[in-house]
Amino acid sequence: MFELLFLLLPVAVFYGYFMGFRNACKNEQSEKNKKFGFLTKGINYFLYRENDKAVDEFIRYYDSDTEHSFEDGLALGALLRERGELEKAIRFHNKLLMSAEPVQRSAVLLELARDFMNSGLLNKSEDILKELISYNSERKSAVMLLIKLYEQEKEWQKAIGLIDAFDCYSSDSLRQRQSQFHCELGNELYVRQNYAKANDQFKKAVTINKKCVRAYLNMAKILIEIGQTKKALSYIQDAVNADPEMIPVCLKSLAKCFFAGQEEEHLEVLNSWLQISENPHLVIAISEIMAKTKTREEIDVFLLRVLKKTPSFELFSYVWERMYSDLGPEDQERFTVLKSIMDAHQVNNHRFMCHKCGFKSSVLFWQCPSCHNWETMKPHQITDWKASAGSTEKKYNDKDII
Ligand SMILES: [Zn+2]
Repeated sequence: MFELLFLLLPVAVFYGYFMGFRNACKNEQSEKNKKFGFLTKGINYFLYRENDKAVDEFIRYYDSDTEHSFEDGLALGALLRERGELEKAIRFHNKLLMSAEPVQRSAVLLELARDFMNSGLLNKSEDILKELISYNSERKSAVMLLIKLYEQEKEWQKAIGLIDAFDCYSSDSLRQRQSQFHCELGNELYVRQNYAKANDQFKKAVTINKKCVRAYLNMAKILIEIGQTKKALSYIQDAVNADPEMIPVCLKSLAKCFFAGQEEEHLEVLNSWLQISENPHLVIAISEIMAKTKTREEIDVFLLRVLKKTPSFELFSYVWERMYSDLGPEDQERFTVLKSIMDAHQVNNHRFMCHKCGFKSSVLFWQCPSCHNWETMKPHQITDWKASAGSTEKKYNDKDII
């Protein structure tokens, strides 16, 4: 009997070992499940756009294990920065930098540069980026970020120098931005009345980007200032060819190219533009020039024909205004409410809208204040009928261009 028990001893030992091992496996599995649970929850929150909660779950996922991949660390640092926890992100990336392998250092330094940039510590960010440009691995990202930094600091010349030095990274969008940097330099020179050098900058802008409406209009502005209206006219035409949507912005400059007695020539240009766009502001400008040489009936026929073909609130309101002024005092009183509603719509609707992010404004910004894209704000036709009190028609003025 005793011998039999003795024989069972190894079985008991093996059973104990097996059960212990099974429990350990179970615990390990449960830890793994818990860890990946944080990750799954985080992804779910992220998909439902609850970014703060998503970041919390990703942090739990990261803290649930001491052994993480280098990429996990980079991702968490970037999440902290995106959530606005910039000090934490900087501390985290500095810690990561200490444990990073030599080949991983560039990636961490790039993240640190982004942290400093978002924190407004631009000098620190600039130092890191300059250092990174000398390495191979993150050079392109560092160059792009440094251009963005100079753009933010309005260091236009430095940004241009960097784009020229790394021409190999050039793209259409980068060239478009470079042309705007030349326009910014041109504007600074124009303000100091250094027209020749300002003109050089605008010329560089159109050499780089043939669709730079801003540069064409600025070159026209300088020529109008020095009385060379014929040459100015050709640049205004270039602006319209580059982007017919910008016709309302070009009307004021065009009007400055003609003098009394040149209505026919002025009309000829406007009518040629009418072939490519029936923008209400262009139609209104034509009717105002026609008023100098044509009868009221001829103008009404023209306006109603365009209104019927291309209905717009602005043109409807303009035609209504003309009809209203013809009414007698009694009829005018009857139609006052209707007129005040239309006036209110005119005044409270935004005249420019960014094609990229939808930002609306009553003035034209060459760089959208919301998404920071260049030349994405375009004249906007009124489609929104919700408005409050106000009055008078709005035109596009030079002072409304920023
Ligand atoms: Zn925008």
